[in-house]
Amino acid sequence: MPAIRSLRLRLTLWYVLLLAVILAGFSAGIYLTLRHNLYDSLDDSIRNRADTLLGVVQYDNARPTLAGRVSSGDPNAEESFVRVLDASGGVTFANSAAVEDAPVDQQALDRALLGETGTRTVTVGDETMRVRTLPIPHDDLIGGVLEVGQSQDDLSDTLQALLLILAVAYPLTLATASFGGVFLAGRALSPIDRLTGLARRISAEDLSQRLDLKLPDDEVGRLARTFDEMIARLDAAFRRQREFTADASHELRTPLTAIKGQVEVALGKPRDADSYREVIQVVNEEVDRMIRLVGSLLTLARADGGQIPTAAEAVNLPELVGAAVEQVRPAMDQRGVELQLEPGPAVTLRADEDLLLQLLLNLLDNAGRYTAPGGRVTVGWAVGNGQAEVWVRDTGEGIAPEYLPHIFERFYRVDKARSRAAGGAGLGLSICRWIAEAHGGSISVESAPGQGTAFTVTFPMGAQAAAS
Ligand code: ADP
Repeated sequence: MPAIRSLRLRLTLWYVLLLAVILAGFSAGIYLTLRHNLYDSLDDSIRNRADTLLGVVQYDNARPTLAGRVSSGDPNAEESFVRVLDASGGVTFANSAAVEDAPVDQQALDRALLGETGTRTVTVGDETMRVRTLPIPHDDLIGGVLEVGQSQDDLSDTLQALLLILAVAYPLTLATASFGGVFLAGRALSPIDRLTGLARRISAEDLSQRLDLKLPDDEVGRLARTFDEMIARLDAAFRRQREFTADASHELRTPLTAIKGQVEVALGKPRDADSYREVIQVVNEEVDRMIRLVGSLLTLARADGGQIPTAAEAVNLPELVGAAVEQVRPAMDQRGVELQLEPGPAVTLRADEDLLLQLLLNLLDNAGRYTAPGGRVTVGWAVGNGQAEVWVRDTGEGIAPEYLPHIFERFYRVDKARSRAAGGAGLGLSICRWIAEAHGGSISVESAPGQGTAFTVTFPMGAQAAAS
């Protein structure tokens, strides 16, 4: 059977099927209960009549019989059956000629003569009778047999009428329920069709569209809202991606334009060796800048792709900080910035050593660049509360509160011109944050203009470095 591709149809089919089973059970229940009750009360009435008649049996030459008045006054003679038989099966009384002629059931007679009572169905004329055969006790013996019955045609008519009603009502109810089911399922599911149509129109190129269906807060409404939220997140992610690409291209174009300018000037006319050397030096610096930039971009791209698995190795933090300090000391000395190391406790982290070193170098490099000669940069670490903290503080220019929330964003620079002149593209801190988070840690900053800046990186102790 081919799969039904409409949820509406499937729902309705299941619903109708279930209803069909329930209705069938219900109808059968009604029919059987009524049938049982009707037969019960018919049997009761026959039994009562039999009891009464047994009380008025008379004997004529030791053969049981009933007084003639039992039959003559009976207005329902046609619908009742009263017959008395003697022990040899001869009819001594019958309430009508038709009853008298009705065949005698030898088996029932024999059983009654043995003292048993039985019930059977006898057709008399056009009536079907339910007849009870019972022994007539006489002086501790059985003197004969009494047959008492009543027409069961009314009962059959009633049951037949009920069957007819059920047979008509059953399909009618199912048909009505099917139409109702299709209608209700259609109503409940119509927003989903609208949702599908709208969702089809939203493409990757135009993620600004929203379903914005004014639906109540039910399953479908929540689905539509969740869908809108997802599109909004995708929209934001795509926008960030586009901005990132645009910023990256812009950053790469700047050194390329500088190189092109220098080369064109140099080629403009013949120059002496010193001039060429100067040009080559500038070109070299710009190429260095580009290498750094491309390196940062690669790191971030891999970070985004979750491609850099941070190796979890035992890292001796004091040694690592010492190495970073020694690496930046010459540049600091050259700038006239004092570099101070505040030794802390011995501590080993499980982390990716190269990434941790890159983080420290980025922070130290920033501290050096944004601190005027004569200033001081301090680096240290501490352990507490199951965490290790590393800080880099400077007495530099600081960052105004309005810029603070943005400094970890990609390509964000407080003073573009100055930062760029100092070699920054605004990617350093975003890389620092990623490295900290990839290790299950975090990075925070405290700063005030003119009062210096303090970056603090917190790592959970013993935390396994994780792939971001
Ligand atoms: P950049 O390569 O431009 O330094 P970063 O992401 O490392 O980019 O830093 C972003 C911005 O944060 C910088 O442009 C600078 O304005 C500010 N900043 C970072 N570190 C410091 C610091 N130690 N003191 C003052 N400003 C800082």
